[in-house]
Amino acid sequence: MKNKREKTKMNNPIYVTQPSLPELKEFIPYLEKIWRNKRLTNNGPFHQQLEKELAGFLGVPYVSLFTNGTLALVTALQVMRITGEVITTPYSFVATTHSLWWNNIKPLFVDIESEFGNLDPEKIEAAITPKTTAILPVHVYGNPCKANHIQQIADIYGLKVIYDAAHCFGIKHLGQGICNFGDLSILSFHATKVFNTMEGGAIVCHDENTKKRIDYLKNFGFAGETTVMAPGINSKMNEMQAALGLVQLKHYGENISKRKAIAETYRKELQAIKGIRVIPEPEQTDSNYAYFPIFINKKEYGISRNQLYEMLKQNNIFCRRYFYPLISEFPMYKGLESAKPNNLPIATKMAKEVICLPLFSELSIDDVLRIVQCIKNYNKLL
Ligand SMILES: *Cc1c(COP(=O)(O)O)cnc(C)c1O
Repeated sequence: MKNKREKTKMNNPIYVTQPSLPELKEFIPYLEKIWRNKRLTNNGPFHQQLEKELAGFLGVPYVSLFTNGTLALVTALQVMRITGEVITTPYSFVATTHSLWWNNIKPLFVDIESEFGNLDPEKIEAAITPKTTAILPVHVYGNPCKANHIQQIADIYGLKVIYDAAHCFGIKHLGQGICNFGDLSILSFHATKVFNTMEGGAIVCHDENTKKRIDYLKNFGFAGETTVMAPGINSKMNEMQAALGLVQLKHYGENISKRKAIAETYRKELQAIKGIRVIPEPEQTDSNYAYFPIFINKKEYGISRNQLYEMLKQNNIFCRRYFYPLISEFPMYKGLESAKPNNLPIATKMAKEVICLPLFSELSIDDVLRIVQCIKNYNKLL
């Protein structure tokens, strides 16, 4: 009996992520307050409190809360009046480029650098056209872009910079909150992210006037009872989401230290395996350990990324291939000149080699070691 139970435990399915939630009883008093005061949305008290607390926590001047990260991105482009063509990365989640599509903007895909997988500033200038108005980079996996170099190019050519910082909650880089780079940054608080409000997101900006404009745009463009300043959208966060955010924030520290222990175990155990590349730890950065991507060199490791992915699945370990396929491979974008694989050789290679290993705060170190053993001994398991 005992053996059987142990065996089942060994074979528990492990998924790439599992959302963090506080104890329900901690959340109930917040719900009671909402039911009592009947403020459900429209910049209610929890919404205001979470905006203030997050600004302090993230080390940024202003936060505007959104119902999700994608609408934050779509709205951010409207805030800056971005039009024409925008330089962006193909190595991200589809929402990055979809936000351009929803604004009738043409994406110009530029290749990434091979160390972290972020937009390569060396390749940006060659892609700029007279219609280019902005750069939309992603700090992919939470590893900081070369923000100073990107800003230098933006300043010379008069471009805006909007960061998709969906992976970057809580990250500090070069002594400050990572969302201080660029003109605007957007965050996602989706269930799968390190900090979640079930669904949710935010725009970070640097000055009060921009904050006002963002808040008008996320509420139909209303700047007063009878004034509509733009064809705004409805992308406000509601009070339940904001209340959950306040509770989640209290547990953020514990969550990140558990994630850190997991990431350090993976790094230690996997670094020496031939044919497996682990991304280096970026300099002067406090990470949030959101993802643990590894890159498989088939020749050196012995089997391909897809074979490893399937083998892990057979062993009840469900990884994800973030980011494969590249955004530029999807049918609505693949006809673009800049989407051609020969324009994007490094992104194409990384998308073919990447696999993201399970990483969430409740994942036990035993399970981490079980995953590591599968990767080390794949030839015995195939
Ligand atoms: C999650 C994610 C988004 C979208 O956020 P949602 O809150 O799910 O809408 C955008 N960009 C990137 C890079 C993401 O990972």
